[in-house]
Amino acid sequence: MGDLRRYREKRDPERTPEPFAEASRHALPPGAARAFVVQQHAARRLHWDLRLEIEGVLASWAVPKGPSLDPRERRLAVRTEDHPFAYADFEGVIPAGNYGAGAMIVWDRGVYRTLDGEAPAEGLEAGKLDLVLAGHKLRGRFALVRTRSGGGRDWLLLHKAPPGGAEAADVVRAEPASVLSGLTVEELRGGVTRDAEVLALLGEL
Ligand code: MN
Repeated sequence: MGDLRRYREKRDPERTPEPFAEASRHALPPGAARAFVVQQHAARRLHWDLRLEIEGVLASWAVPKGPSLDPRERRLAVRTEDHPFAYADFEGVIPAGNYGAGAMIVWDRGVYRTLDGEAPAEGLEAGKLDLVLAGHKLRGRFALVRTRSGGGRDWLLLHKAPPGGAEAADVVRAEPASVLSGLTVEELRGGVTRDAEVLALLGEL
């Protein structure tokens, strides 16, 4: 089971809209499809949070530059505290004064499997996860590899693909909007919702 103590220590449920749920206790077979999410988080420093369902929680990494589809790129991914499974659908504005204050969108969402069919908890422990992602924006083979720097917190995220593919390598710039709401972090932070736009249009009729 994952450990949500650090998650709860950093947050006050009275002051943030983020979910507070227990770790899920359903057990999945080792090679099962599990959930993944990438949330773009406009905190003090903009970053993308990659989260993988592992043992009932979301194992999490903060990726300062976001994922890339260019197989030559190795993106730093700093391991952060496990998040509740329900966090995979969280999109909102964390109010000023709270941990991680700022707007967060669900930039990509989907399922993943381990390439070798082993339980991902083993790769997490060993410091190497070979993954097949099936999301809206991230698809195909990716790897997370722990490095010797950062006291065990620093990993590298890379896309394993033949070079010269037709994919938009700079995917975080090419496809900035949420896969849930269609909003960018700027729109979410600015209080724009698609519903409000529709209402404004109706008001003009
Ligand atoms: Mn974050």
